[in-house]
Amino acid sequence: MRALLAEDEHTLGTWLCKALEHIGIQVEWAHDGKLADLALRQGGHDVLILDLGLPGMAGEEVLTRLRARDQRLPALVLTARDSLTDRVRLLNLGADDFLAKPFELAELEARLHALVRRARGTEHPRLACGGLLLDMAKKQFLLHGEPLGVTPREHAVLQVLVQHSGEPMSKQQIIDRVFPDDQDVHPEAVEVLVHRLRKRLDNSGVRIATIRGLGYVLEAI
Ligand code: CA
Repeated sequence: MRALLAEDEHTLGTWLCKALEHIGIQVEWAHDGKLADLALRQGGHDVLILDLGLPGMAGEEVLTRLRARDQRLPALVLTARDSLTDRVRLLNLGADDFLAKPFELAELEARLHALVRRARGTEHPRLACGGLLLDMAKKQFLLHGEPLGVTPREHAVLQVLVQHSGEPMSKQQIIDRVFPDDQDVHPEAVEVLVHRLRKRLDNSGVRIATIRGLGYVLEAI
């Protein structure tokens, strides 16, 4: 997951960047509203974490411009203001969720994941990464338009990776999703499945990269 953090408080921003990256969320940090607006125009984020009191351009304006461009990027607003009127106003501007400062990292993480999940669910019923596409309705992978032959377990692993494309998944996270009822699955089983999938994806422009210490990530080259 890639988040754009629009926050001018240095201490909070520094802490958030470190803490979120520690839990596997990549963060681009914009220190003021104008830079946030510019970064949003360039795109490539899964979620926006937006402080309202920003120098350069107010958070409300950043949000208004984002929605005027019809970007459906989920936006979580960090706010000290906690009144119902403010929330209604922010919802009307296009905010998706709120978190009042100060907050716990665990709550922020849970909300970010929920927002991204919701957005992916509505916008991408067909999940894609480069030339690889998963048709959820047909339960079939297409690679450059051609059906990709995979075994059921390979399919399950590839589905986990494409659902989290761009985001590293550890072997344990993959095991938990692919073999939820099986207590005795060794990490080597995932290694074997990934090895086979790599062969199938060879020279396709899509690859499963290994991120040391974090796991596997599906990416378009
Ligand atoms: Ca601020």
